[in-house]
Amino acid sequence: MKKFNGSCHCGSVKFSFEEEDITSGMRCTCSYCERRGSALSKFTLSKDDLNIKAEDDAMGMYQFDTKIAKHFFCHSCGIHPFLETVRAPGQFRVNLGCLDGIDVDKLEIVLFDGKNLL
Ligand SMILES: [Zn+2]
Repeated sequence: MKKFNGSCHCGSVKFSFEEEDITSGMRCTCSYCERRGSALSKFTLSKDDLNIKAEDDAMGMYQFDTKIAKHFFCHSCGIHPFLETVRAPGQFRVNLGCLDGIDVDKLEIVLFDGKNLL
């Protein structure tokens, strides 16, 4: 296991977790992710495994449709470091572009059919 550190753009929201080497990611096709355009982790992390350090009131949260998934974003810079998934509430996927030392363009990216998930 390796330790990964991540943050939003301005640094108000920081997070860390342990995971195997990250060699791939996914792009979700749902109406929100399509607009957002970031590559997400294929693995998920429980709330206990995702160590979040955010300044008070730094984070906003957006929900739509079934209001199960929780899309978190930084109030200052607008970057969305992680989300809580639809299929496994309580489990988080992280925005791979937020991670230190990870070059998203070098990862194998698969499509996730979020558009037809519900
Ligand atoms: Zn920020």
